[in-house]
Amino acid sequence: MIKSVERRFWHAINENKLVSPGERVAVAVSGGKDSVVCMHLLANYCRVKRCELVAITVDEGIKGYREESLLIARENAKMLGIEHQVVSFKKAFGSTLDGMVKLAIKKRTGLNPCTYCGVLRRSILNQAARELGAHKLATGHNLDDEAQAIMLNYIRADLSRLYRLGPSYSPLEGFVPRIKPLREIPEKEVALYALLKGMNVHLGVCPYASGIHTEVRDFLNKLETNHPNSKFMILRMFEQIKPHLKVAVPGFEMKKCENCGEPTSSRLCKTCELLQDIDLVNRQKNLISL
Ligand code: SF4
Ligand code: ZN
Repeated sequence: MIKSVERRFWHAINENKLVSPGERVAVAVSGGKDSVVCMHLLANYCRVKRCELVAITVDEGIKGYREESLLIARENAKMLGIEHQVVSFKKAFGSTLDGMVKLAIKKRTGLNPCTYCGVLRRSILNQAARELGAHKLATGHNLDDEAQAIMLNYIRADLSRLYRLGPSYSPLEGFVPRIKPLREIPEKEVALYALLKGMNVHLGVCPYASGIHTEVRDFLNKLETNHPNSKFMILRMFEQIKPHLKVAVPGFEMKKCENCGEPTSSRLCKTCELLQDIDLVNRQKNLISL
């Protein structure tokens, strides 16, 4: 089992040319099993291939949940001898996620916590990875996450986001290319790998986890139980369709957000749009003092 996970991880990197020798790779580590496993496997890969690895943890500010996972991320990075940077919503955007949720209720935006969390985390991770001089930004997305994302984009009829899914995504200037080396490994196998290797991982569940994401996850788990290999087939089918999607996805001109200067296709980036609706407008320019 251990060898099988490691083999598929190496295969994913080599087959899709996710990392080149000598590159500096940033890995997003929440402290959960997927990101911790991804960091351990990348640490080994980078030792062999002479790449540099740096870990980034986002502290969204979720009381009673993120504190412990942050400590676990730090312990793992320390054990592996990897540089570890923590970037927080509070420092970057002037409020914790908990604070934003309260403001969103007050302002009746109708948006759930995961919308703020997802958009802002992607943005802060990209900014941090860029400031750290990373060539790639790795995340611990596993097969279950990827199948879930494919289904969600079908349900939302979001062709652009669907098209961006894959083992790597290299957007335009200002974005650090993202890679997902665990994308073909089922969540259960990642969890078992962490267990067999005796890794210290955070097992808590985010208090905000709810809504359509959990419904799609439960649906896919039931499907997989009744029809084994379904998640993998969803992924394979998507890969066959993806090359044909290009003609249907409109291209866009890359601009700089008028408020924060981050790359965007509109006048304002999505992060600033969300923040303005809850009266948070400033954004920290330098997250990391090198
Ligand atoms: Fe963020 Fe939602 Fe995930 Fe919680 S469940 S960490 S709020 S995206
Ligand atoms: Zn902006």
